Amino acid sequence: MQSKLETQPLFHRRAKIVATIGPATKDPENIEKAIYAGLNIARLNFSHGTHAEHLSVIKIIREKSIALKAPVTILQDLQGPKVRVGLFEKGSIVITQDEIVTVTIEDVLGREGLIPSDFKELCRASKPGVRILLDDGLLELEVTEVFEKTLKAKVIYGGILKNRKGMNLPGVNLPVEAMTAKDKADLDFGLKNNVDYIALSFVRYGKDIRQLREIIDQHKSPAKIVAKIEMLEALENLEEIIRLSDVVMVARGDLAVETGQSRLPGVQKRIISLCNQMGKPVITATQMLDSMVENPRPTRAEITDVANAVLDGSDALMLSAESASGKYPFKSIRTMHEIIVEVEKNENNYYKLSLEHELLSTPAAIAAGSVLSALKLNASAIVCLTTSGKTAQIISTFRPKAQIIAITTDLDVLNRLEITWGLQTLHLRPYENLKDIISQVERMLIENGLSKTGDRIIFTLGQPVADHGKTNSLHVHTVGGEEFKKADQDQLPLRFKNIKEI
Ligand code: PEP
Repeated sequence: MQSKLETQPLFHRRAKIVATIGPATKDPENIEKAIYAGLNIARLNFSHGTHAEHLSVIKIIREKSIALKAPVTILQDLQGPKVRVGLFEKGSIVITQDEIVTVTIEDVLGREGLIPSDFKELCRASKPGVRILLDDGLLELEVTEVFEKTLKAKVIYGGILKNRKGMNLPGVNLPVEAMTAKDKADLDFGLKNNVDYIALSFVRYGKDIRQLREIIDQHKSPAKIVAKIEMLEALENLEEIIRLSDVVMVARGDLAVETGQSRLPGVQKRIISLCNQMGKPVITATQMLDSMVENPRPTRAEITDVANAVLDGSDALMLSAESASGKYPFKSIRTMHEIIVEVEKNENNYYKLSLEHELLSTPAAIAAGSVLSALKLNASAIVCLTTSGKTAQIISTFRPKAQIIAITTDLDVLNRLEITWGLQTLHLRPYENLKDIISQVERMLIENGLSKTGDRIIFTLGQPVADHGKTNSLHVHTVGGEEFKKADQDQLPLRFKNIKEI
């Protein structure tokens, strides 16, 4: 196993890391450690925690991010209409293979042989032969008889069933709304507190995304949408869902239960490939380093899973329990960082640019031109002056090897862009003209160790710059800036510093 520490700064890694915040990471000191370890996106899981707890985490992240000069995306993950078992008299029961159990939608405490469910439509949606998977598919029932408020089911795989574990009915079209009353209240909270992205769980149709977008627009919020793909219906409507979303998540926990475990790798590759083709960032999630919840080192299979998810074309990889409640939250983040950096040495990861690409807008044409120019001119960076972040995201989809530096005056845009593959962001002071921008950029590139005098860089920008308009120009520039020098380590933004042991 690797013992030599990777000493290159964090910005050398292109695929981003989503780390779920939980008891192991929610305090100020631990959030700082998580950002040091390599967190780019903080996921707040609204299946757990109170609004007061989430608000405290949001405030700490924003403070630490400014202090470390390290933008962080805050991702609010809504619980969605997750079907769960209810509570048991003793907290859990044991179900045994071939036993016949009763599942009830009545509001009662469960006991041996009796499983309550919070899903009031369960009996209407079920029929004999339907499979009910419990606790992410670890336990399985098969429905034998259905009554008005109860059903009987035979235990196929038994085990311990604890309070509030998840319940999946693969292939059954559940009569549920995309957002529950709790989701709507949580969303209202998230938008008021300026989260950057909202992840919608159990998306099934394009209209689920449209409904969320309408609410976000009503709030006049710039928040973006992550569609979690975890239902069979979502796979049937995949293209439309990807088109309507800003980012997609391969939510492998529920997805594997729905598709059947053996189909998961193929489905993962299909989703990632379609997102890559359609220019939408994609996050691969769940159990990537699961054994690190308990152990300081991952299994060989997990190391390979992380590496393969990068090679498949993921923009970001996600940690769940590993960083939220595991014994080694920071080591998990750093381990993921090290595996990604290693696999990104493979040249095949870069320059996904082909003559077949349709360039549907002027910014897309300039973005493609900037990537080709960077390759052919051996430029050290593509610097993208951006107002909304759109052009920078298009550049990322072409996977240039040259560093992509997005520059903008808007701190919120910097935070939102942190989710995008390969993007580093720098904060620009208000400017009047191109000369002023170039002078600020030369200083930042040299001071942060991104370029040196004489390097070629490619600029993309909207001219005239004072109008803050859409990208319409490409500008090849040779870095001057003889008067600047690389800043001392302690002056550098976190991600440009030499990496510290954690
Ligand atoms: C998943 O199911 O893989 C997932 C990411 O969603 P959650 O953790 O909310 O169940």
